[in-house]
Amino acid sequence: MPQLALFNTLKREKQIFEPLDPNHVRLYACGPTVYNYAHIGNARMAVVFDLLTRVLKTLYPKVTYVSNITDVDDKIMQASKDTGEPIDAITRKYETIYNDDMAALGCDKPDIQPRATEHIGDMIALIEALIERGHAYDADGHVLFNVPSFENYGGLSGRSRDEQVAGARVEVASYKKDAADFVLWKPSNDDEPGWDSPWGRGRPGWHIECSAMSEKHLGLPFDIHGGGADLKFPHHENEIAQSCCAHGESDLAAFANVWVHNGFVTVEGEKMSKSLGNVTLVHDLVGKYPGEALRLTLLSAQYRQPLDWSVEKIQQNKKQLDRFYARLDEMKDMDATPDAVPESITAALCDDLNTPQALAEMNALLKEENSPELKSKLLAAGRVLNVLQKDPAAWLGFGGDNQDSDIQALLDERTAAKAEKNFARADEIRDELAAQGIEIVDTPEGPKWRKAN
Ligand SMILES: [Zn+2]
Repeated sequence: MPQLALFNTLKREKQIFEPLDPNHVRLYACGPTVYNYAHIGNARMAVVFDLLTRVLKTLYPKVTYVSNITDVDDKIMQASKDTGEPIDAITRKYETIYNDDMAALGCDKPDIQPRATEHIGDMIALIEALIERGHAYDADGHVLFNVPSFENYGGLSGRSRDEQVAGARVEVASYKKDAADFVLWKPSNDDEPGWDSPWGRGRPGWHIECSAMSEKHLGLPFDIHGGGADLKFPHHENEIAQSCCAHGESDLAAFANVWVHNGFVTVEGEKMSKSLGNVTLVHDLVGKYPGEALRLTLLSAQYRQPLDWSVEKIQQNKKQLDRFYARLDEMKDMDATPDAVPESITAALCDDLNTPQALAEMNALLKEENSPELKSKLLAAGRVLNVLQKDPAAWLGFGGDNQDSDIQALLDERTAAKAEKNFARADEIRDELAAQGIEIVDTPEGPKWRKAN
């Protein structure tokens, strides 16, 4: 069996992945806070961990992928105040949109997608354990995690004590014992969502939800914890501290064994930001481009590398898919048995999900002659990346939505003109169709047409 190597942020090196239980691989990735549309950076995380799950599923008999929905958060409360819409309506609406948009990018829904609001009891139990072990304290209706109580705090991000304090978005609060302490529970006003707790009516901080939900659905320790690189500190650092301390563990790997972080997405060379007005929403993109082209674009850089997003790159990847589908269309009458993923592609994916290499290997396959074997290889490689699984003729748009006898008559006339070497007339017909938004594609089976895009 091929061995999967992953870069483990916790150990700062690429390591051969050794599952804790080879019969059941368990992974968790931090999901979205649902109060607006997901941007392309959120989508990269979803696509990367969807791919990692698919690769793991080719290697191990059982894989459970958990990714949460954060449906209680101050930003959600603010969105409700701004729009007048009830919180529930906002979170359910954007959860559905998120799942629909990620499905358009070819992401399977995680095996388990727990909602924070359905796990408040688990979070309270975890906070109680932290207080009992002397790692948390309540003050002024708040419960805080006491950072200096955990000797190994900071081991994931490698941040020094000063950097931790500077990065902890410290509100100067009189109830904090230490400037780096972070909130596990906070009080809610009557007009804010809240749950009864030993510390009064309130709501959880963000970090505790992932500790509670990953443990509940995967057990501890589990194999892989993932998320965007921006979550390393403080979010992931705090998750580790909570989960280790609640169980009296000092080894950081007692929570999750391997930590996988995907890199940032920039847009046309710039950091995405509201002030630059370049926040690129998946919801807009899936209305304009085929989801499969967007997926391939997201996979065009290795997941740890920065990815620069551009319309040009989407178009390149769309063309790339056109080339693959054109070959599959040529082989449409051949029987394929797409069981085994070609070794070269498995090797690339097992090398820390080296997707650029996997795509280069797929391109190299196109040098082969058409054959049932080639068709099988392309489909099997496409299956693990979750591309190339559509009907090629439908992808290529041949014939448009319905057969059009006027267009077909012009195509026939063009073929006849070319046979008579009347290239002027042939070109004229091409231009006439182009003016109607129709593109002619010459294939080995003769010319076909499709709506230009
Ligand atoms: Zn998380």
